[in-house]
Amino acid sequence: QIPGTRLPLAKYGGRHTVCALPGDGIGPEMIHHIKNIFRFCHAPVNFEEVQVSSSLGDGDMEAAILAIQRNGVAIKGNIETKHDDPQFKSRNVELRSRLDLYANILHCVTIPTVPSRHSGIDIVLIRENTEGEYSGLEHETVPGIVESIKIVTREKIERISRMAFEYAKANGRKKVTAVHKANIQKLGDGLFLKVIKEMADAEYKDIKFESMIVDNASMQLVSRPQQFDVMVMPNLYGNIISNIACGLVGGPGLVSGMNIGAKYAVFETGTRNTGTSLAGKDLANPTAFIRASVDMLRYLGCHYHANLISDALWKALVEQRIHTQDIGGSHTASDVINATLINIEKHMEENPHL
Ligand code: ADP
Ligand code: MG
Repeated sequence: QIPGTRLPLAKYGGRHTVCALPGDGIGPEMIHHIKNIFRFCHAPVNFEEVQVSSSLGDGDMEAAILAIQRNGVAIKGNIETKHDDPQFKSRNVELRSRLDLYANILHCVTIPTVPSRHSGIDIVLIRENTEGEYSGLEHETVPGIVESIKIVTREKIERISRMAFEYAKANGRKKVTAVHKANIQKLGDGLFLKVIKEMADAEYKDIKFESMIVDNASMQLVSRPQQFDVMVMPNLYGNIISNIACGLVGGPGLVSGMNIGAKYAVFETGTRNTGTSLAGKDLANPTAFIRASVDMLRYLGCHYHANLISDALWKALVEQRIHTQDIGGSHTASDVINATLINIEKHMEENPHL
């Protein structure tokens, strides 16, 4: 359950329209799988597909942003970012900041049959998604000296903090841990810590609040991850911590990530990989993308279809052990999709009244 306001979503002829941005790498084949699953189980969703790529001009970005604004909702693959051109802004970052998708929310849960070092993990990671180190303000003042500006504002700290507490409240969670480096970044992270502490004390007394320095949080995560419930973090720490958490429950192919703003929402994979080396080989684990599509259905209020797909996928992964290579199996992505479709079909046959 995601707290906060949102615009009413258009539903022409009883169907939602969502924007699909396939992106690069495994994105296009994953979007193809999701469309298949939705069609198969009659999910009331139409897709408006928009190609965005770093190799195209700026027109594609404008088209994508307009389409998301029109539809309110999107599902996307990761768009490859050029590392070598300092003028080039990451299209992924630009999308999130222009649509003001201020909260990145990941739910990292142990999946019983997926091999991992720890069991019993159930962490919600809430990451500030629009400012901090991702402000995109870097310059070389004189050759050999670079300034990289991290911007934090009380306003944005307040809204990400509120999201964390409201999320905890709405989902029956007991504890919020704020991750920071206020011992070194005294002003920037200091403000983050001060604002969230004030909010915890003043407005959310029923939820346990603690803070943890990011280096210790990293160590605690890999040694005793079960201690965490909801974690809330500034942008860059959130990126790193959420990748650690995804790694703990099985890697880049398993966890989905929601990008939530007051008006729009974009659904993607938790670790935001392109998986370029896996593209076209039918090897990538489709779980993270399928879960992203389930998150999207829940956001749209299509709970029947969300549960139908989610349960069918769970059966394939846990009961039937249809595992791709990344989690130690030898199945293809298509095997996972086919098993999921068969499980959906079975459920629909057994429950014809629905
Ligand atoms: P690349 O773009 O070089 O493939 P990424 O940064 O996109 O690398 O991904 C990091 C690692 O995660 C790579 O080893 C990639 O193969 C793996 N990976 C990404 N997505 C998936 C997936 N859906 N299933 C399995 N492995 C994945
Ligand atoms: Mg990549």
